[in-house]
Amino acid sequence: MVLTSTTIESTVGDVLKAVGAWRTGHFLLTSGLHSDQYMQCQRVMQYPQFGDLLADLLVEKLAEINVKPEVVVGPALGAVHWEVFVASALERKALLENSRSSLAGLLQRPEDTYKAVEQAIRPESINSMVKAVFAERAGGSDEFSIRRGIELDPGTKVLVVEDVTTTGGSAKKVVELISSLGAKPIAVAAIVDRSGGKAQFDVPFVSLLKLNLATFQPEECPLCKSGSSAEKPGSSKK
Ligand SMILES: [Zn+2]
Repeated sequence: MVLTSTTIESTVGDVLKAVGAWRTGHFLLTSGLHSDQYMQCQRVMQYPQFGDLLADLLVEKLAEINVKPEVVVGPALGAVHWEVFVASALERKALLENSRSSLAGLLQRPEDTYKAVEQAIRPESINSMVKAVFAERAGGSDEFSIRRGIELDPGTKVLVVEDVTTTGGSAKKVVELISSLGAKPIAVAAIVDRSGGKAQFDVPFVSLLKLNLATFQPEECPLCKSGSSAEKPGSSKK
């Protein structure tokens, strides 16, 4: 069965709400604006099964537009874990399609372990694996870099992932970083695009859920006017 965009959107929305990643209430955002909704996608990453599900859905959407990355790069800290889920989902799809051998499930088949690992650690196998990398802002810099001994080979096809795209600023910087390193950004993908269509990139942009969340200047906030006070998410216990 092929999932339609509408089915995907409602499925993703249900998951995000169920784990408290998408909340309704009265919030003070980092920008200083107020909103009746708040998105904290890291909450969904606590649950690898949901991370896998969202990544599988994203990979199907990428396949529709023939995006086949060799490396997935996400800006820290927002995309940390997410880039691993997406790379892992790309591997799963490739394994299914090419019936390549997999290291998954070997503990259930100990007799296959040695052979499978021996195959997997060959340079040609390692080179064909989809990699997951995070870009970080280091040393108080506003610019992203890729560190920790990780290098991108020239021409490598890179997918940039974000959890939530608000302005697209971070993703844009990572796209520029990848180009400057001689690799090839081929697409940007997010779980939620809340930019209201404002986030634009020089490469295709795919998201699982498009939202146009209303924000208000504090003095114009209808929720404040009705007497409630805004909660700063992450600053209290819940
Ligand atoms: Zn308010």
